[in-house]
Amino acid sequence: MSAIDSLPPLREVIAKHQLSARKSLGQNFLLDLNLTAKIARQAGDLSGCDVLEIGPGPGGLTRGLLAEGARRVLAVEKDARCLPALQEIADAYPGRFGVINGDALEIDPLAHLTPPIRIAANLPYNVGTELLVRWLTPKDWPPFWQSLTLMFQREVAERIVAQPGSKAYGRLAILSQWRADARIVLSLPPGAFTPPPKVSSAVVHLDALPAPRFEADAAVLNRVVAAAFNQRRKMLRASLKGISPEIEDLLHAAGIPQTERAEQVSLEAFCALARHVAAAAQR
Ligand code: SAM
Repeated sequence: MSAIDSLPPLREVIAKHQLSARKSLGQNFLLDLNLTAKIARQAGDLSGCDVLEIGPGPGGLTRGLLAEGARRVLAVEKDARCLPALQEIADAYPGRFGVINGDALEIDPLAHLTPPIRIAANLPYNVGTELLVRWLTPKDWPPFWQSLTLMFQREVAERIVAQPGSKAYGRLAILSQWRADARIVLSLPPGAFTPPPKVSSAVVHLDALPAPRFEADAAVLNRVVAAAFNQRRKMLRASLKGISPEIEDLLHAAGIPQTERAEQVSLEAFCALARHVAAAAQR
C-alpha cells in the first residue's frame, strides 16, 4: 500500500482509536488507500467542488477525496467513535475538511456546502438506497448535486442501471435513469473490505441531467412505479388499481396495453402514465 498522504495507514488509525467494526452500523471499511483514491477519481474532477461524503468511518474514502484534490469535503458520520480519527484528517488538511456527527437520514447538510457539489459515499446498503431515492426525487430539477458516486451491493448497482425486460429493472432503474446518467464504474470483491461482507459490491456513478429525460411529477412517478413493481408479476391494470379508479383509461391514454407487466414498460411510457395520472387527479 503506497501512502497518498502523510497520515498513518488505516489499520493503525483503527487500532489507535479502537474502531472495531459494528454490524449494526453496516461497517465494512476500505483500508487500501490506493483503492479509495481510485474510487475518488470516479467522482470526476473534484478540484473546484465541495464533496458531501456520507459515512466516512475511519476516513479511507475521505483521504482519497482530499488527495484527489476536492476543494472541500463535508462528511456526515453517525458513529461518534470515528470523530477523533476524522479530526486527524481535518488537522492534516486545514480548512478543507469538516464533519457533522449525526444520521444522514435526518440531517440536511446543504447549508454547509457551496456549489458545485458532488456526493460520494460507501454506506450501509439500506441507507444508500434510501438516500439515492431522496436525492433523485426532489420536486424541482436540477438538484443541489452535480454527481453521485456511491458504493452498493452489486445486485443493487445492477438494479440502478437495468433496462426494461430484465429481472433487475424496477423503481431504482426508472428513478435513476429518468433524471441522471447512471453507470457502474467499479466492481469490488468482498475481500476489498474489512471485515468482508457476504456479497460483492460495485460503485455506481450518476451525473445529474440538466433536465429530466421526460416530463413528469416526481412524487406521482415514484408512486406509480412503486405500485407497478410492488406486484411486478401482475398486469398493470391490476397492480395500479389503487393509483386511480380510471386506471384502464389512463393506461390507454399513455399508450400502454392493459395486460402489460411493469417489467416491459419503458421509462418514457411510465412518465406518460404519471402525467395522465396527475392530470386526472386535477380534474
Ligand atoms: N466510508 C468508510 C469506508 O469506506 O471505509 C466507511 C464505510 S462503512 C460501509 C459505512 C459507514 O457509514 C460507517 O462508518 C457507519 O458508521 C456510517 N453510517 C451508517 N449509517 C449511517 C447514517 N445513517 N448516517 C451517517 N453515517 C452512517
